[in-house]
Amino acid sequence: MPTNKQVAIIGGGPAGLMAAETLAAAGVRVAVYDAMPSVGRKFLLAGRGGLNLTHTEAQAQFLSRYGNRSQAVAPWLQGFSAQALRDWVHALGHDTFVGTSGRVFPTDKKAAPLLRAWLHRLRESGVVFHVRHRWLGWVENNALRFATPDGERQIRADAVVLALGGGSWAKLGSDGAWVPILQAQGVPVAALQPANCGFDVGWSEHLRSRFAGQAIKSVVLDFTAAAGAPFRKQGELMLTATGLEGGLIYAASARLRDAIAATGSATIHLDLAPGWERARLTREIAHPRGSRSVSSHLHSRVNIHGVKMALLREIGSAEDFADPARLAALIKALPIRLIAPRPLDEAISSAGGVMFEALDAHGMLRTLPGVFCAGEMLDWEAPTGGYLLTACFASGRAAGLGVLAWLGAI
Ligand SMILES: Cc1cc2nc3c(=O)[nH]c(=O)nc-3n(C[C@H](O)[C@H](O)[C@H](O)COP(=O)(O)OP(=O)(O)OC[C@H]3O[C@@H](n4cnc5c(N)ncnc54)[C@H](O)[C@@H]3O)c2cc1C
Repeated sequence: MPTNKQVAIIGGGPAGLMAAETLAAAGVRVAVYDAMPSVGRKFLLAGRGGLNLTHTEAQAQFLSRYGNRSQAVAPWLQGFSAQALRDWVHALGHDTFVGTSGRVFPTDKKAAPLLRAWLHRLRESGVVFHVRHRWLGWVENNALRFATPDGERQIRADAVVLALGGGSWAKLGSDGAWVPILQAQGVPVAALQPANCGFDVGWSEHLRSRFAGQAIKSVVLDFTAAAGAPFRKQGELMLTATGLEGGLIYAASARLRDAIAATGSATIHLDLAPGWERARLTREIAHPRGSRSVSSHLHSRVNIHGVKMALLREIGSAEDFADPARLAALIKALPIRLIAPRPLDEAISSAGGVMFEALDAHGMLRTLPGVFCAGEMLDWEAPTGGYLLTACFASGRAAGLGVLAWLGAI
């Protein structure tokens, strides 16, 4: 492989670092540029949640998580599967374990030791890091422009991998500022949108001030968009000052976001008493309550209390509370109207990005020969469960291999 070639990787997240590793392993000179004072900041944040690296489910099921982009993601995962990712972590000297849900985590559930080991290995293999280098685009002679603490720098490279991330958590570096730069070069970019995000409802002051921050568990969330398969899943939510957050709603967030965009709102139904049959709930509620309040009656007979009771009060009418059958129906399917996704900056990940039709089979931008893209900046999305990181690592490796193929050809 051409050791006299110099490749610039812009963006030091999982995708960019994996591209760097792939290229350095082939003997290419690699420099990683990042706007932030250090690389991998979002990866480190993911470590705060335990760092769900990947998932053990069967390949076909795994691939289905990428929805209508699964065909585009498939070649990445064929080259670097969930098992390959685990092997890679093990080779860095860290063990992994499989949680009860099939999710894979590092044994210590931390990102920092893994990133440290990885950066050490990258430096050993000759990768050079330039932090506080914000990429601004190109100058006419095709040199890359960077803003640095010492002023603007221009850098030439034989090939470039852009791995600039999505648009959430801008303070960690991925601010989506690359979108207009690429659009100005004729690259089609789908608008960045929140994915794996919370939603606004617009609670009453009473509910917000007394229950924000409380977990709602366990509930079943039901949602069916006008044109789409029904979503039904059990899990946990969190009531926030503005609406709902948490794993269960993240799982439905792509379809909820799209439904809101299409019709202005999306109504989910929560089963507040999973495992209870409606007829039995009705019977229990209809039981004479004597001098007890409705709240203590519901608490003792059907175990509805706290934030669940507050939600029932928020949405139910006096008529609902007066009729055991209606109240049971409400407990089994409480309608909550979501009016907006939370802003992109708060989301776990971004949907949208560089469209796949802009890329050739090697991940190179058709309109910018020698410039490759990888990671979350591409137009795919996936739920939480390790699917995001797996695709970022795998696409970084694919872009690295694409660069090698291209350098071999020039
Ligand atoms: C709270 C949270 C928890 C998460 N937990 C998980 C999890 O457990 N499992 C999972 O699979 N995923 C998780 N994710 C998602 C995962 O972290 C991201 O999908 C992944 O980091 C994206 O990798 P990337 O390399 O594409 O981009 P990023 O990691 O965002 O890296 C992009 C890099 O590009 C740099 N950059 C951007 N613009 C410029 C510029 N103009 N010039 C120079 N540098 C630039 C940035 O500074 C950054 O370092 C989580 C995300 C969040 C926010």
